[in-house]
Amino acid sequence: MRTVTVLGTTGSIGCSTVDLLEQAREQFRVRALVGGKNAAKLAEQARSLKAELAVLADESAYPELKALLAGSGVEIACGRKAVIEAAALPADWTMAAITGAAGLEPTLAAVKNGNSIALANKEALVCAGDVMLRAVRDAGATLLPVDSEHNAVYQSMADRQADQVEKIILTASGGPFRNASLDVMRAATPAQALKHPTWSMGAKISIDSATMFNKGLEVIEAARIFDLTEDRIDVLVHPQSVVHGMVQYTDGSLIAQMGSADMRIPIAHALAWPQRMPTTSSRLDLAAFGTLEFIAPDEVRFPALRLARQALRAGKAVPAILSAANEIAVEAFLAERIGFLDIARVVEETMDTLGAPPADTLDAVLHWDAEARRVALHLISPAVA
Ligand code: NDP
Repeated sequence: MRTVTVLGTTGSIGCSTVDLLEQAREQFRVRALVGGKNAAKLAEQARSLKAELAVLADESAYPELKALLAGSGVEIACGRKAVIEAAALPADWTMAAITGAAGLEPTLAAVKNGNSIALANKEALVCAGDVMLRAVRDAGATLLPVDSEHNAVYQSMADRQADQVEKIILTASGGPFRNASLDVMRAATPAQALKHPTWSMGAKISIDSATMFNKGLEVIEAARIFDLTEDRIDVLVHPQSVVHGMVQYTDGSLIAQMGSADMRIPIAHALAWPQRMPTTSSRLDLAAFGTLEFIAPDEVRFPALRLARQALRAGKAVPAILSAANEIAVEAFLAERIGFLDIARVVEETMDTLGAPPADTLDAVLHWDAEARRVALHLISPAVA
């Protein structure tokens, strides 16, 4: 039996992970389930999986969680410190699926155990790439990419010919505004932006998909995971979301991974790795699709890709600044304080304001993350910050 911990268990990736664990109960013992605020969902999952420990980041949720898990034998804890301590408990496999930079310290705590880390929380790797990769190396941990594109590339490199890779290609659905005019995008509401055409995901990543910051973050994530320079990572818009990622080898072969748009497939790959496990996810009916399209991305309507590539080339604290400013801008857009096109504007102006300071340590990363949030907030509402 393998021990597992799920960070971000109450979210979209977390629930898909729990679903897979419930289908293979006899193979896993659940050490810790960690959520943010949702006590009801956490308690339901902890009871179902007989977790040893259930933790919420929100301290005020303690009485509710305690009442919900009374008599269950599940230990409980709340607060930021408890989240990091739970992540640090030894587990054979940890799902890192807390959204945003909030996932950085818990993910690092899990990495230090030196076991398998299934990484969904791309922002952690984007903002603290060097720090994370150093921790992975020092601990001898295995990073298993869960993001569907990175998981696809990982699977397409399964024959371990990494030194003969020419480039990789990440696909993007193009989001809800793939064919929209700039005028339509300028007037877009949160409800329209949240309506992803092919994937069902949490709010932040859904907005990131609509702006294409998601793909930008993924280019940076891919550079870190596969140790590739920016010019060896291409992006293609592929509206059907059937092909998730491709690897082009030096002999001209292009190897792709396909599957239905269901995150349980890449999560199952990471959970069973290096084996495979059966899933009930729907199988691809390629004949029903008939045609698969691949289109070059439009960096005029979607400046996020250009900004992310700029951040990756600049290195240092710039990816952390981009990611933090984007988190603030997405929150402001969801709260209807800024328009859809302002998201990229706020990120670009924050990057211009802060330049490219060094960020070799976790403290430096956290400092520039906080600075970027302050600057972005000021740009959004100068009177408040
Ligand atoms: P959700 O918003 O659905 O879930 C986020 C999870 O993080 C929830 O469990 C939430 O808890 C928890 N959380 C939030 N803040 C904290 C905190 N401070 N401490 C502890 N837990 C916290 O997001 P997704 O599942 O969609 O995405 C998770 C990550 O995976 C993101 O980084 C995303 O980019 C990445 N990803 C997601 C994909 C998807 O299909 N959804 C695909 C590929 C990558 P609560 O809800 O209880 O507040």
